[in-house]
Amino acid sequence: MELLNGKEISGQKREELSAEIKMLKEDGITPGLAVILVGDHPASRSYVLSKQRTCKELGMHSILTELPDTISEDELLSAIETFNRDHDVDGILVQLPLPSHISERKVIEAIAPHKDVDGFHPLNAGKLATGEPTFVPCTPLGILEMLKTKDISIRGKQVVVVGRSNIVGKPVGQLLLSEDATVTYCHSKTENLAAHTKQADILIAAAGRAKLVSKEMVKEGAIVIDVGMNKVDGKLCGDVDFEAVKEVAGMITPVPGGVGPMTITMLMNNTVLSAKRRKAFKGAV
Ligand code: NDP
Repeated sequence: MELLNGKEISGQKREELSAEIKMLKEDGITPGLAVILVGDHPASRSYVLSKQRTCKELGMHSILTELPDTISEDELLSAIETFNRDHDVDGILVQLPLPSHISERKVIEAIAPHKDVDGFHPLNAGKLATGEPTFVPCTPLGILEMLKTKDISIRGKQVVVVGRSNIVGKPVGQLLLSEDATVTYCHSKTENLAAHTKQADILIAAAGRAKLVSKEMVKEGAIVIDVGMNKVDGKLCGDVDFEAVKEVAGMITPVPGGVGPMTITMLMNNTVLSAKRRKAFKGAV
């Protein structure tokens, strides 16, 4: 069994990004990411701070707007609009989840698609589905980056995705389909989950259920990607029973230190991509 070390792979990717950012800065463009945090959810705060820290480490421009959870939907939409018009901002991210009186759909749709570095806007989701991706959501993109860095063959392979959310499950399946995998989606209504997962050459667990994937559900030698981030007795735990599954898997991601670091790195990647598009646009006018 080989450990798929997300920290290490994302470290390499960050070095590449750092060089690209340096070049952009020489051309007068500093990639900028605006993050909006609504309320004071501890997990959201910690994600946002780590995104900001990574921006700073890479020499990017980062803006954090903190808004109280009493803010109205209109006020939040107008904060987004300000960043849509700000030429120094290449990417806008509104940390989810939002308070229940605010529509996540409206908020996601308010972000200008060309600054939607999370890739959640329906236009970007549609482009991924039709095979012309503009911004691919960060976790799926991080998973693809891991597989490619490790030279793991995708073409023709059986990929099984457990989870069908718009932010992880669906887009990771679509992304790997576009890399010529044969993709099966499983979800909470799937009958005999193990019969499906056992077929997987590449198994992606994104259900948010601690230790859902047991050793008996995994084919010998399979690549196992654990997206889950569950808190059990105050400790972070994936969707895969790591200790047992590592006995059968060919490669496996740990939690923490697997998909998590890749997600943040790909957010930086998408922001740099957006800044490069800004540079191309500037050059064209
Ligand atoms: P959602 O809750 O939006 O989706 C979970 C999906 O899993 C749903 O499609 C659901 O099915 C399915 N599911 C739930 N229980 C089962 C089950 N027992 N058997 C099969 N399928 C099941 O979660 P997200 O996609 O947002 O996140 C998934 C996990 O990944 C979470 O732990 C989250 O914290 C983590 N995450 C980690 C990231 C990282 O960077 N490492 C980034 C984003 C998320 P149905 O559709 O039928 O309800």
